[in-house]
Amino acid sequence: MSNIEGKVVAITGASSGIGESAARHLAKKGARVVLGARRTDKLEKIVKEIRAEGGTAEFRPLDVTSRESVDDFVQFAEKTFGKLDVVVNNAGLMPLSPLEALKVDEWDRMVDVNIKGVLYGIAAGLPIMKRQGHGQFINISSVAGHKVFPSGAVYCGTKFAVNAISEGLRAENADIRVTVVSPGATESELADTITHGETRAMIDQLRELAIPAQAIADAIGFAIEQPDNVDVNEIIVRPTAQPL
Ligand code: NDP
Repeated sequence: MSNIEGKVVAITGASSGIGESAARHLAKKGARVVLGARRTDKLEKIVKEIRAEGGTAEFRPLDVTSRESVDDFVQFAEKTFGKLDVVVNNAGLMPLSPLEALKVDEWDRMVDVNIKGVLYGIAAGLPIMKRQGHGQFINISSVAGHKVFPSGAVYCGTKFAVNAISEGLRAENADIRVTVVSPGATESELADTITHGETRAMIDQLRELAIPAQAIADAIGFAIEQPDNVDVNEIIVRPTAQPL
């Protein structure tokens, strides 16, 4: 039996891209998945399709910028299925721009979703996992959490923060597994959040190499299916031809 089968996995940002792909992939492998995001029409459709293929899935409206909403989401997963094995902190946005453009509202938004959203996911899941004596966080970072590039100062900063927070979480908790998955260019809606014209053109060109979101879902599945005493802490998955 796979070490994914029967696990309860709560996934933030599951209405598109990597989160959606992870939900479909893990459900196929027998996990009971709980999908959260703001676009509930999309979640409803994905859950219906997972169920039609024999999978077990539920959804719940989620805004990761609200601590109450994240608590409600994670508690819903535990109450519905009686336990919580994995939280995938995946929700994120990437409105890249040079600092000089002073898109301060977008900086705020990235801090709120990419950093505070992950922290709220930890705050909601950790007490449950400590009570159970086991659990796993999978935090989605980026190659931008390893390298800083022009127009990426704030986005990279949020992803470096995800790495640092994840390492602290790991070091403090001998009973909890912590995995950082860092994708390179991956097919999704992520570039749609870029409002700076020149940066968008540069990223659109880079994203011509993009790999399918399934490649990241496979990495998430790999981290979950290891034996309970094996903690895969970091995985970088990028297109072979991606220079950055
Ligand atoms: P998408 O834009 O396709 O997905 C982002 C998801 O986050 C959506 O489901 C969106 O749902 C959700 N989301 C955004 N804001 C909120 C919010 N406030 N509350 C709840 N959910 C929210 O992009 P990806 O799948 O690519 O992004 C997933 C993660 O992967 C992000 O953390 C991103 O930084 C990371 N990543 C992606 C890469 C790529 O090339 N695609 C590369 C490196 C990292 P909704 O709008 O319905 O709320």
